[in-house]
Amino acid sequence: MLDRRNFYINGEWVAPSQPNDFDVINPSTEEKCAVISLGSEADTNAAVAAAKEAFVPWMMTPHAERIELLEKLLEIYVARGAEMAEAITMEMGAPAALSQAAQVGAGAGHIKTFIKELKDFEFDRPLGDHAPGAQILLEPVGVCALITPWNWPMNQVTLKVIPALGVGCTMVLKPSEVAPLSSALFAEMVHEAGFPAGVFNMVQGDGVGVGTQLSGHPDVNMVSFTGSTRAGVAITKNAADTVKRVALELGGKGANIVFADADEKAVVRGVRGCFMNSGQSCNAPTRMLVERSIYDDAVATAQTVAEQTAVDNASLEGRHIGPVVSQLQYDKIQGLIETGVSEGARLLAGGPGRADGHDAGYFVKPTVFADVSPDMTIANEEIFGPVLSMIPFDTEEEAIQIANDTLYGLTNYVQTQDTEKARRVARQLRSGMVEMNGQSRGAGAPFGGYGQSGNGREGGVWGIEDFLEVKSVSGWE
Ligand code: NAD
Repeated sequence: MLDRRNFYINGEWVAPSQPNDFDVINPSTEEKCAVISLGSEADTNAAVAAAKEAFVPWMMTPHAERIELLEKLLEIYVARGAEMAEAITMEMGAPAALSQAAQVGAGAGHIKTFIKELKDFEFDRPLGDHAPGAQILLEPVGVCALITPWNWPMNQVTLKVIPALGVGCTMVLKPSEVAPLSSALFAEMVHEAGFPAGVFNMVQGDGVGVGTQLSGHPDVNMVSFTGSTRAGVAITKNAADTVKRVALELGGKGANIVFADADEKAVVRGVRGCFMNSGQSCNAPTRMLVERSIYDDAVATAQTVAEQTAVDNASLEGRHIGPVVSQLQYDKIQGLIETGVSEGARLLAGGPGRADGHDAGYFVKPTVFADVSPDMTIANEEIFGPVLSMIPFDTEEEAIQIANDTLYGLTNYVQTQDTEKARRVARQLRSGMVEMNGQSRGAGAPFGGYGQSGNGREGGVWGIEDFLEVKSVSGWE
């Protein structure tokens, strides 16, 4: 069993100020695979103090030196990719192939893209010809608390840590206590790359402890948070007394609008997209809205795809989905599946109970509900499991209305071969992202949501700007 009880503070691995062991459970086996410590206030304070002390020297470090260190980090991250994939599979149950490709790959992709964007970024710019001597300086916001969830651990860690490092912020990372191993490994990589002591710190802990201590800390200038809307609200309230900047990436309930003229793979792609990562993606297309004339065919196809979706131990190679992350999530998903049945949705595949062939592990059956009405619980709540809700529609207006009838607004999807219609619908969807006809977001595209999906944008140039203050200086010349 791995012992990951130490924290990374001020360039060293240090023991927690007081013991508070916490078991990490492998969701494929329900067995303990590692032990970490949950930090206490003294650990949080030590990490914040180190970040505060390191801030000015790091801010003043030439940009090119910071980029060189990020390039070194990328090299190490890529070289140790297999180790990282194993850690992710063990801690949160992404199947080996998914961990190796998408989970680890997302992190590498973000590091690469940020390096490119940082090289081109204009941190100093004149206001304009109309105002000689007026200069705009874009400067690091200061000490950042970076709080991340368990579902795409390295994707989320790199979306925060890399731009923060690149612009000259210092930071305390608090990864999810449910999936802390990948971040411990990442901290080793940052150390190996040679970043100055105190620039990057990592303290393990839970939301009520380290998370809350960070969001309320007077020496933290910004909190960047990804996770549930519930925690995002709590963090925002707790950060208010010290007027911190708060960037939030929260939940979603993505609609996938499948028009009658969609390409022939649209439904299969939509179901697989919903089940990917066992449905544990904030941008998953979990509501499939289907035009009535092709609805019966789409329902039959979705049922077949669900029945053919294998569920197995995450450490095995091959094409299957893994377990969901924890007993807590498993129970929550089971409850929502039961609610779907009791509210009268038509269960096509899957349903309550553990997936066949497994005596242990948090394996949810790939589940599809048809005839879901927009007012049902499963059409509104984020389920965060492999559960698809299918809803018929008659007109374009109705599809847009149903898609927008949600508290969330992260990613919506459109399937039609009519370009004019696709663009018309994309403009009317109230979400930070729209993906059409299976084309995924480009590298450096901004990731973030409207409404209760959050307020920030991560990735690319927008993800860099999130970590900057704007200073106006006159008399510069
Ligand atoms: P969570 O909100 O329970 O936990 C996320 C992180 O916040 C963890 O590190 C946790 O310890 C910490 N935390 C919890 N309560 C806190 C508090 N009061 N103060 C400070 N920190 C606190 O969420 P989760 O279960 O880990 O992740 C799943 C959720 O994350 C889903 O709702 C999903 O949609 C969302 N998510 C959003 C995005 C996005 O970019 N929009 C990406 C991934 C996941």
